[in-house]
Amino acid sequence: MVNYPRLSLPFALRPSAIQGLGAFAVRRIRRGTRLIEYTGQRVTPEEADRRYDDDAVEHPHTFLFTVDARTVIDASVDGNEARFINHSCNPNCEAVDVDGRIFIDALRDIRPGEELTYDYRLERDGRWRADFAQRYACRCSAPNCRGVLLVRPKKPGRKKRG
Ligand SMILES: [Zn+2]
Repeated sequence: MVNYPRLSLPFALRPSAIQGLGAFAVRRIRRGTRLIEYTGQRVTPEEADRRYDDDAVEHPHTFLFTVDARTVIDASVDGNEARFINHSCNPNCEAVDVDGRIFIDALRDIRPGEELTYDYRLERDGRWRADFAQRYACRCSAPNCRGVLLVRPKKPGRKKRG
């Protein structure tokens, strides 16, 4: 059997203090490096809502990425390692939309051992509810932590799901 050279990811998955599994740099990553595509099944927001009811679980955590008003990526189906990259309010990576495909890029130079994070900027439909702070609590421990994974929609009603 021939061993073809393959591109290995610059990060590895292991338990994270933020939550569950996280992605940790295994070598130096330069600012601007495109790390991985956020893959999964592309579904409509209506289908994503049908699959996952955030109000039915105490701590909602799904592998969904909202691309736009018509498309949500469900990384539970055909997803890759990108779905394990945790949220931080002071992230070292960012999610970039390239013609509807989502990639995770390094925002700055990252040292080996650092956990990779990006700001999920989750949104939810409708009015802000008092229980959101608890249900979507953020544990990133950044000095500027806003306390929740959610961001309040700038234009209420525009966003189709969150
Ligand atoms: Zn935070």
